[in-house]
Amino acid sequence: MHDGDALEISLPGPVSAVLSGLIAGGDEAALVGGCVRDLLRGERPLDWDVATSAPPEAVAARFPGATWDNRFGTVTVRPTDPGTGPGGAEAGIEVTTYRVEGGYRDRRRPDEVRWGRSLIDDLARRDFTINAMAWLPDDLGGGSGRLVDPFGGAADLEAGVLRAVGNADARFTEDALRLVRAVRFAARFNLEIDPSTDAAIRRAAPSAASLSGERVRDELLRVLGGAEPPSSALLTMERLGLLQVLLPELAALRGVPQSKALAGDALDHSLRAADALSPEDPVLRLAGLLHDLGKATTLADGHFIGHESAGADLAEAVLRRLRVPRAATARVARLIRQHMFAYTPEWSDAAVRRFVRRVGVDLLDDLFALRAADNVASGAREPAHGGTAELGERCRAAIAGDPLEARHLAVSGHDLVSELGIPPGRLIGRLLDRLLEAVLEDPAQNRRERLLGLARGWAAERVGEAGGFDDGAPAHHQGDDGVAASS
Ligand code: ATP
Ligand code: MG
Repeated sequence: MHDGDALEISLPGPVSAVLSGLIAGGDEAALVGGCVRDLLRGERPLDWDVATSAPPEAVAARFPGATWDNRFGTVTVRPTDPGTGPGGAEAGIEVTTYRVEGGYRDRRRPDEVRWGRSLIDDLARRDFTINAMAWLPDDLGGGSGRLVDPFGGAADLEAGVLRAVGNADARFTEDALRLVRAVRFAARFNLEIDPSTDAAIRRAAPSAASLSGERVRDELLRVLGGAEPPSSALLTMERLGLLQVLLPELAALRGVPQSKALAGDALDHSLRAADALSPEDPVLRLAGLLHDLGKATTLADGHFIGHESAGADLAEAVLRRLRVPRAATARVARLIRQHMFAYTPEWSDAAVRRFVRRVGVDLLDDLFALRAADNVASGAREPAHGGTAELGERCRAAIAGDPLEARHLAVSGHDLVSELGIPPGRLIGRLLDRLLEAVLEDPAQNRRERLLGLARGWAAERVGEAGGFDDGAPAHHQGDDGVAASS
């Protein structure tokens, strides 16, 4: 397939309607970017992007209900009959006026997007040849048209090559995100990076430090959410010097020795853990990728004492830098903090309840999935009996039958205030914590009068002492559910 060759496409109705609406108004309109690439690869595109010579106001005026709300002049046209559009078309078709980019003040975003005069201008500003192709319709009814491929994207796709459009050094200087996108597309489509593009990426790699956390995050999550094992993109990032700039905490695991059934260092292990998790949940894959970050800083005498907590802190800092939303960051950090649990069938029921309480009911399944991935990545096998599956069963039984959270207690904070005459405040919180510990130890204690009696006794001991329970906190139960101290 070459520039100018005839190419027939079976267009979804709404896409065809948008193209024909633009053409009927006397403008040029073409399919551009990822959808043309996907069609040439024989895949059904997820979204269909249209480029046109019509200015944004004219596009918006032509399609009732279209929204035009960003400074790049992209108009989103919604199909009039939603539900009929195939994949993505229901969500709206993006129509962008031909543009060229000029004036780059920094490496973040093009400062100025100017409307271009031609489709060729528009393709020339795109990142890689495989993303810089268009399809110009001849006869929309019959789906016939021509491939517009001035940079040889179809031949590169055929040969399995990822190549920057035009001068690679210039393209990466314009927008450093293209460095990461290169790796993502190469891994996703199993392409070799063309040697001169590859060399330009290495030269420009340090400039990736200037990228905003949000943009790096979005690319990283797309890598982790892809069907390809993420290790492929991440190893390429390491080879090109990007991992060291964007995720230095992870790159630092290279060379950290492991004594696992599978060969390799702590970075190899981390990549295998990410690969072993599902792309359906990219945030959980992130937890797999980062779960052993603490090993770079805690290695001593062949052990990694406290690496789960050092790693949780490091992961939190990484994810804050990448502007990952708070809830996802907290989820990853909590999983990493808890990932070293060492279950044995000797655990008492109370130990199982304390484990559920510590991990949180909402995170148990994730933690077991992370353990399974960690095992795969280590070459470790669960025992046929008495392993994590048994712990899971026992946790489920506890969740179904036992009080495990403060809200399950037979008394509330209000009860303590009114029955014991203690003012609302820290002491009430401490009493509730301690009551919960008593109930986790023995659920039979969870009766109103019994708990009020316990709380009354503790309050009498402690009220008036500076700091309340600060130094009198009950001994923490360790041992049967204690966390293993080494790797
Ligand atoms: P995906 O299936 O991952 O969405 P895509 O090719 O559609 O792949 P997008 O990020 O949606 O990728 O971008 C759409 C098109 O816009 C690309 O195909 C490319 O032509 C162009 N593009 C996107 N980002 C850039 C960039 N940073 N620099 C140059 N061109 C870009
Ligand atoms: Mg896209």
